[in-house]
Amino acid sequence: MKIRQDIAERLQAGVPQIHICRQLHVAPLTVQRTREAMGLPAPTTRPFLPTTLEAAFRQYTQPTENGHVEWTGPVNNGSPKVVFAGRVHYARRIAFRLHRGRDPIGRVTVAASCEVKDCVAGPCVEDQRIRATNKWADKAFAAIFGEVTA
Ligand SMILES: [Zn+2]
Repeated sequence: MKIRQDIAERLQAGVPQIHICRQLHVAPLTVQRTREAMGLPAPTTRPFLPTTLEAAFRQYTQPTENGHVEWTGPVNNGSPKVVFAGRVHYARRIAFRLHRGRDPIGRVTVAASCEVKDCVAGPCVEDQRIRATNKWADKAFAAIFGEVTA
């Protein structure tokens, strides 16, 4: 089979088959035969859809310069969310799990110290256990050093 250079170049660059068909006005079978003749692997199914929950989450995250992560995806009742595999997942819970390596307990909220709207940076999200620990630490601090008034 004679390999068309324009198809080969696009395949090598990772251009999806459907785009090659549109750009060069060739049939999908022509692109497929070219790919096979070049010994390239078959394309993964639905390359534009994230294949993991983490990838689905990351497509909407925008790290800021000072360590926070802005959410660019959908928000439902004040909670950033992402749909993956037909289910709604709350972005703060995903951020928590990725950062802490465990499932959150209770509601996940943004720490009071973070001022970025809908921040989903791992260190900025807290579950019930962390809030309780912080409260205990504040009380212990106050008991030792006296109440601190800001
Ligand atoms: Zn933050």
